[in-house]
Amino acid sequence: MVLEIRKYGDPILRKKCSPIVEITDEIRTLVADMIETMDAGKGIGLAAPQVGYPIRLFVLRNYIESPEGDLSFSDPHVYINPVLSNPSVKKVSDTEGCLSIPGIREEVERPLKIRIEALNLQGHPFMEEIEGYNARVRMHENDHLNGVLFIDRLDLRKRKKLESYLKEIQRKHSKSD
Ligand code: ZN
Repeated sequence: MVLEIRKYGDPILRKKCSPIVEITDEIRTLVADMIETMDAGKGIGLAAPQVGYPIRLFVLRNYIESPEGDLSFSDPHVYINPVLSNPSVKKVSDTEGCLSIPGIREEVERPLKIRIEALNLQGHPFMEEIEGYNARVRMHENDHLNGVLFIDRLDLRKRKKLESYLKEIQRKHSKSD
């Protein structure tokens, strides 16, 4: 089932999310719905608070680049109670967007590499050392679990430029649904 995506201005996007204590059928259903919602929105990552659940969970697909340079996407991956560590000193800028902030794409600076430890949907712990855009997606989604949005990471001048547009998203989505 495709879920409603909460948009900028919705207070749930600013919550610090709680750890998941047990992987129940409800969580499994939520994960399936989140993957469907992510794909329907043509996103490559989606965090639980974006669909109204303030819990530490996100889903994503990896970018896969063939030797010929063609891009495709991996099967979906599930991260429960993720912990990020070991950010590289080297930082890189690249373009990000967010299903909760439609219409805005901006360059964000983040570490090139990151380590992530989490549980999968079976409750098994795993660890990944990731770099490049796939690392960026994990950092972006993990930010959502702490109430942080990518626009918070822009410098003040860029952020100021977006202000009226952000207000417009907020206005549109607080009136209707
Ligand atoms: Zn996002």
